Amino acid sequence: MNKDLVIYNTLSGDKEKFTPINDGYVGMYVCGPTVYSDVHLGNCRTFVSFDVIYRYLKYIGYRVRYVRNITDVGHLEGDADTGAEDKISKKARLEQVEPMEVVQRYTIGFHDMMRIFNTEPPSIEPRATGHIIEQIEMVQSIIDNGYAYEKNGSVYFDTLKFAEDKKVYGKLSGRILEDLMVETRDLNKQDEKNNPADFAIWIKADESHIMRWNSPWSIGFPGWHLECSAMSTKYLGKTFDIHGGGNDLKFPHHENEIAQNWGACNCQPANIWMHANMLLMNGKKMSKSIDPETGVSNSITPEELFTGDNPNITKGFSPMAIRFFMLQSHYRSTLDLTDEALIAAEKGYRRLMEAQKVLQNFTHPGGGSAADLDSEINQLIDNVHKDMSNDFNTPMAMARLFELVPKVNGLKEEHLSFVDLTSETLDRLKQTFSDYIYTIFGLMDESESAAAGGGALDGVMNLVIDIRKSARENKDWGTSDKIRDTLKELEIQLKDGKDRTTWSKN
Ligand code: AMP
Ligand code: ZN
Repeated sequence: MNKDLVIYNTLSGDKEKFTPINDGYVGMYVCGPTVYSDVHLGNCRTFVSFDVIYRYLKYIGYRVRYVRNITDVGHLEGDADTGAEDKISKKARLEQVEPMEVVQRYTIGFHDMMRIFNTEPPSIEPRATGHIIEQIEMVQSIIDNGYAYEKNGSVYFDTLKFAEDKKVYGKLSGRILEDLMVETRDLNKQDEKNNPADFAIWIKADESHIMRWNSPWSIGFPGWHLECSAMSTKYLGKTFDIHGGGNDLKFPHHENEIAQNWGACNCQPANIWMHANMLLMNGKKMSKSIDPETGVSNSITPEELFTGDNPNITKGFSPMAIRFFMLQSHYRSTLDLTDEALIAAEKGYRRLMEAQKVLQNFTHPGGGSAADLDSEINQLIDNVHKDMSNDFNTPMAMARLFELVPKVNGLKEEHLSFVDLTSETLDRLKQTFSDYIYTIFGLMDESESAAAGGGALDGVMNLVIDIRKSARENKDWGTSDKIRDTLKELEIQLKDGKDRTTWSKN
């Protein structure tokens, strides 16, 4: 087992040597999506980042319990903690369906997209609505410990008292409590709080609120931050190894999660907090929300990226070219989506897969004793591992593999430099390429899967068929016609059967 892993911990602001609580085991919790609309590419970037982290932890020998939740209640509009509508309920109201129909539809869509990007499913995927009892119990413990109070059926976390007692509030996000206290926010129920920095952990439902549960305080629903505290504790214990999520969740979500866990258990929840940086487009955070200035959202859907149907790109890109593009930047750096960068990534992905084929098809003729070349290759392989164990530095590890690509391609052109390698080193090189490309980076060979009529292309086509089906159900003829016409141009035929639609390519 590789004992040299170093991880950047947002809590300490430093890289730290990774030592799990239980030798050989890792508990990791990552905040999952709020399933009120289609997953966007920014969400995908965060989940791909943690997928590579999960894969690498397993690769170096840990048994990992990876918990990633589905948020299906309590996440209010504008990330508010009171006085705003629940994102899921709002969608259900607008579409005149049950909230759980909204949840079901977008959870399936999310899973489809994760499969298309070849991310592994987490070990446990708990839902907030499936853990209301655990959340109520946690609110009660926080009240019992003196860190929360009830007002008119809602329960608020006493941030000031907690900050005074534990001195950790604001440590993760760098916020200063005094600043938070003077911030005046024009929200309903703000006056119920003793202090503007307090936040709701149980919210009394008003008449119009459709998602509601019985509790000792009122018929209501849990605050958004509470679900992650309750579910991480349930599945990973009071203190566990790693908690992750996107950078934008540091405050208030993660800061408040830490406060709640301390409030309930009197101990720190996760030892390491990891934050993946944002996906940008045109230099601005990619987001589904409508920009009030421009009236449009700064976002591109994965489907648009696959088909090329978006003004920001000149052509479509395959899921693996996009995954490769994401791996080319470090998870803590922002990643700016541009047409040129995607085109370069597509070329890089193809070059790497081509080199992989050449390398794996090469059989050693025996012998080989070029000590210089042997040690050069071994050094490069060692460095690939070093880069990954240095806070999961995928762009550096990738760059090392690319240093080997011209040498590998030499095999194809038959300047057989590799015959001089010892067969042990050649085997190690082959193993490293396969391990990194497939097992750790999670790339698939699209040329093979497409030729076999399966894999990624199948996944994408199922997605396109699903989108067309919902467009037709919603009488959105513009979208369904556009899908049909674009597929026709690509010489792909859809055939509508009695209970499902199939496709074929000329
Ligand atoms: P949400 O569905 O909004 O709760 O977000 C799900 C996950 O995606 C969270 O971990 C967010 O931090 C992350 N996320 C949201 N927007 C972006 C973005 N533009 N780039 C990267 N990650 C994002
Ligand atoms: Zn969370």
